[in-house]
Amino acid sequence: MTGPRLEIDLEAIAHNTRVLVDRLTPVGIRVTGVGKSSLGSPTVAAAMLRGGAHGIGDSRFENLRRLYDSGCTAPLTLIRSPLLSQVEQVVRYAGTSLNTEPVVLDALSAAAEAQHTTHDVVIMVELGDLREGVAVSDALALARSVSRRAGLRLAGLGTNLACQCGVVPDEQNMAVLSRLAEEVEQHCGPITTVSGGNSANLAWALSGADTGRVNDLRLGEAIMLGTEPLQRTPIEGLRQDTVTLHAEIIELQDKPAQPWGAIGQTAFGDQPPRPGTGTVRQAILGLGRQDVDPDGLTPPAGATILGTSSDHLVLDVSDLGLAVGEELAFGLNYSALVRAMTSPFVTTLDR
Ligand SMILES: *Cc1c(COP(=O)(O)O)cnc(C)c1O
Repeated sequence: MTGPRLEIDLEAIAHNTRVLVDRLTPVGIRVTGVGKSSLGSPTVAAAMLRGGAHGIGDSRFENLRRLYDSGCTAPLTLIRSPLLSQVEQVVRYAGTSLNTEPVVLDALSAAAEAQHTTHDVVIMVELGDLREGVAVSDALALARSVSRRAGLRLAGLGTNLACQCGVVPDEQNMAVLSRLAEEVEQHCGPITTVSGGNSANLAWALSGADTGRVNDLRLGEAIMLGTEPLQRTPIEGLRQDTVTLHAEIIELQDKPAQPWGAIGQTAFGDQPPRPGTGTVRQAILGLGRQDVDPDGLTPPAGATILGTSSDHLVLDVSDLGLAVGEELAFGLNYSALVRAMTSPFVTTLDR
């Protein structure tokens, strides 16, 4: 295999899912494994399902189609509001989607009727993070309107916090969702899904607080990286060595620690000054901003990142005995993982 390469440890992903499922089951919460950071990889989804995930969620219908075409029979949920221009594909490849717009519900209804099928709808509620969701005061009316549309069924309610403004899921905002779920059930009959949020909800869910009617969390980062997104700290008992990025040394030379000549901007604006004095053993890797978000990389012990441009990652490797052609392995945060996974220059290998 050549070029930068992501290696995914499927056992680690199954392990992380299993640990989270085991902790959440006693509080009545199932796990929807979110595969968007793996581009809908069927093997990653299979590892999540092996670990006990109830189904798979993804923000792109293209990734759900990849799973569907691979023969995945688990429940598939589109976790971003459907594009009005993609409702046919959404109904074809997702059993459920998260929604806020009446006009999109109309279009989903028409698409479901045309395909002689029923599409499940989760109404998303705004609880303060100011991304997707209808106002609490509008949620009941929109929920009631779902089953008045042919081809649609109300699965339940959901919300999403932390992603846009960093609003923390807590007992107050989750209780609002639970109360709303009860109100909706009084008017619409039993609902199957109250989806409380993402990996940022884990601290709340496992705090011993009353989790109320919430019975589903959509978990991506916690499974894929073993970290929680509010402080980006490792979650105890989960593996953080799930995914590594491998890249090859293309130049290895002793260079002065400091540049010389008048200094202006670099290819990507101002870079922090290089540290150190004297001479460093400098390695250049065939890896750059076209492949990964370099700010989200954790270099191997003994190596320090000095700078990056489109196609070069420059490191001080003075403490390591290396050779041109050898590879270095990096840990990734969520941003680096998503960028590497979506770069056409980076290949993916399951371990
Ligand atoms: C990405 C996403 C998730 C998963 O978030 P993580 O923090 O990775 O667990 C859940 N819900 C929605 C709507 C998302 O877009």
